[in-house]
Parts: sequence; C-alpha cells; structure tokens
Amino acid sequence: MKRLSIKARVTIWYTLLVALIALLAAGVLFLSARRMMHNYYYETLTGTAQLALDDIRMEDGELDIDRDLDELPSVRVALFTTDGELIYGRVRFDLPFAEGEMRSATERSGEEWYVLDTRMEFDDAESIWLRCYISADAAANLSAIGMELAALILPALVILAGVGGYFIARRAFRPVTRIARTAESIIDGADLKKRIALEGARDELYRLAKVFDDMLDRLERSFERERRFTSDASHELRTPVAAILAQADFALSDLATPEDRMEALRDIRLRAGQMSTLIGRLLALTRMDAGQMRVELETIDLCDLAEVVAAQIEDGAAERNMTVLRALDGSVWAKCDQTMLTQALLNLAENAVKYGREGGYVRVGVHAQGGEARLVVEDDGPGIAPEAMPHIFERFYQGDSSRQAGGAGLGLSLVRLIARLHGGRVEAESAPGKGSRFVIVLPLEAEQ
Ligand code: ADP
Repeated sequence: MKRLSIKARVTIWYTLLVALIALLAAGVLFLSARRMMHNYYYETLTGTAQLALDDIRMEDGELDIDRDLDELPSVRVALFTTDGELIYGRVRFDLPFAEGEMRSATERSGEEWYVLDTRMEFDDAESIWLRCYISADAAANLSAIGMELAALILPALVILAGVGGYFIARRAFRPVTRIARTAESIIDGADLKKRIALEGARDELYRLAKVFDDMLDRLERSFERERRFTSDASHELRTPVAAILAQADFALSDLATPEDRMEALRDIRLRAGQMSTLIGRLLALTRMDAGQMRVELETIDLCDLAEVVAAQIEDGAAERNMTVLRALDGSVWAKCDQTMLTQALLNLAENAVKYGREGGYVRVGVHAQGGEARLVVEDDGPGIAPEAMPHIFERFYQGDSSRQAGGAGLGLSLVRLIARLHGGRVEAESAPGKGSRFVIVLPLEAEQ
C-alpha cells in the first residue's frame, strides 16, 4: 500500500484528535447537565414531599389534607394505602413503592416522570404512601437538544479541523517541499549553483535548509577544485609529452646526427623524469585527499632524517655552486611516517636548490622549541614576492622561475598535506632579495 504523505498523516491525526476531544467534551458536558437535572428533580421532589407531609394529618382515622396538594408547582402528589389503593390524586403508572429513592417511570401516554415515595406512619391508623412525581420533560428535552447540537456541531468541527489541519500542515511543510524541489532540480539539471535560500523564521526547517545550502556550497567548491585539478594535471602532462614527441620525431628523422640523437635522448630522459615526479605527486595528492594514504607512524630522530635529505641534495646544489649547511645538533624526536616526511623535507630542500641563489647556500636544520619539533630549510635566494606568498601552497601554483625549472606547482601543497597528516603545519617566510625559510612543525616526542 502506498504510504500516505506526512501532510496527510498529520491532517488525519489532527482531525481524529479534535474529534475525540470534541466527543469527550460533549460527553462530559452532557453527563454533568444530566447530573444537575437529576439533583434538581431530587431536591424538588424531596422539598415537595416535606411540604406535603406537613399538610397531611390523620385525625380519628380520617385523612385531613390542609391544602389542595394538586396546586403544588410542577409536582404532582398522590396518596395510596399500603395495599396500593389510591386515596388521593391520580394513578399514572404501575410502579411498586420504595422508600426514599428517586426512580423514573413512563406513563401509558409515553410521558416520562421522576417518582419519589415516602411512607407516612400514624399512631392511630394504618400507614400510607405519599407518592410525588415530576415530569421528566426538561431532562428529555435537554438530551434531545444535546443530541441535535452534537449531530450538527461535531461533523462541522471535524470538517473544520480536517480542512484547517490540512492547510496548517501544508503551510508548515512548504519549506520541506521547497527543499525537495531544489534537490530534485539539482539532480535533474546537475546544477550545483542552485540554493534553497529559505527566508522567514529561523526555525528547525530554516536550519535544515541552511545546512543543505552550506553542503551545496562545499560540494560546488569541491567539484570546482576537482575540475580544476584534472584540467591543470592534463595541462601539466601535455607540455612534457609534446616535447618528448617532438624530440623523438626529430631524433628519428634523417636530419638528426648521432650527437643530435644523443641530445634528444637526454632531453627525453629529463622530461620523462619530470613527468614521473609529477605523476607520483598527483597520485600521492589524490590518495591523501581520498584518505587512502596509510601513515605508518614511528618515533624517529628528525636529525637523522634531515641528514639523509641534506646528503641527497648535495649533487644538485654543487651543480649550482651552492653550499649545503647543516644545523643538526643533538636529537629531536617526533612520531612520523619516515618515507612521507623525507619526501616533504626533500621537496623543500630541492625548492631551495632550484630557486636559491647561484653560489648561495641551503641550510637544513632541526630543533625543538616550545613542545614542537621544527624542521627548517633556508636559502639566501631571491625570495618570494609578497603577492605570491598567499598562493604558494595552492595546487599547481607556480612562480615565474618555476616554469623554467620544470616544476608543476604541486610540491608545497604536498608538503602541507603531509604536515597536516602528522598533526602539524608548515610555515613560510620570505623577504625578496634575502631568501626564504620554510618550517615543518610537528608535535615533539619525549627523548628516546
Ligand atoms: P614547483 O616548485 O613545482 O613550482 P612548489 O609547490 O614546490 O611547486 O612551489 C610553488 C612556488 O613557490 C614555486 O613555483 C616558487 O615560485 C615558489 N617557491 C617555493 N620554494 C621557494 C624558495 N625556496 N624560494 C623562492 N621561491 C620558492
């Protein structure tokens, strides 16, 4: 069976509840009105019986009735012997006598009466029954009016509750409908620019819509980043591939001398190496983004790690007449993935060699400060322009000098991701003309 919408369910429950409350209220009203009527009849009958008792006397075996009892207001009175023989008044129905208890009886004509019997005892004569009765018309009328009113008002109330409930539910659920429509139109048109932008009261639905909009903002940004990443990556790969193809075509042509071919091969080797680095970085970034990169943490001495990196850049530095300086006194311990952190520090050190001053220096240092381990790479190169500083950690951002050096702008973003994976951060300082200083900051471990 198709399930009802929340709107329909709310309306039905609301209507049922209103109907139930109305029924209960009508029942309570009806019962208390009946009770009031009952009390009124009882009191009228007992009052009248009291009056009648005062007016009836037995004198020398003869009944003496002071007043005409039939003139009593609204109550009829009759007197009977204990054998049920009528002495005074009228017999309206056949009902056995019972002392003090109010009962109802129906006359042959159909008229309803409330009846109260009182037994009168005399010293010198037989006792008699005083029967007082009052027409139950008013009570019957009250029931009839109550029924009529209930028959009219109840259905009207239920219809009103149903219609009103539906409109209230529809109004309350309008924002939900809007959220659903926006979601549908996004799915249909794959347009992540759409927003719900709910206005009005800052209630739960407003918050839901806001969360939805924020989620769309983030999704849109991440899709945009993804798109840019793919297009930048293809662009970065296309350049070396085009160069390799051109060099290979030239080397294969009849125009190329053996020396040209050797030169072309060397160029192809260089570009393929750059491509391999780029592909490696792309893979690492994507894996880290997807949370697939497993970090194998072990506590190591960062000075050993820095020494390995310093040694690795020696040859490259020598090619540019640069000196590799070390500031690695003692031991500084941190929990890290050795391979990843070596890669990060190597990226920084290679950048220092690439962008540093010909004949200058690269200083690799490690020290502990304020509960943090700091891996520092400094150079005395031309530095980074202040306007470029905010962008250097962005993916595929390259300074002008980088393009000649064959970079792709992924090194620093990898360094930052690796530092974050270790619960740390990267700091960068640079003064144009004076050099740059990059620091990987990690949580310090106690001496081992
Ligand atoms: P790549 O080196 O491949 O261009 P990176 O992400 O490693 O990419 O660096 C981004 C940019 O930051 C570089 O293009 C360069 O302009 C600048 N940069 C990085 N390190 C240094 C440095 N030591 N000195 C001067 N500029 C630097």
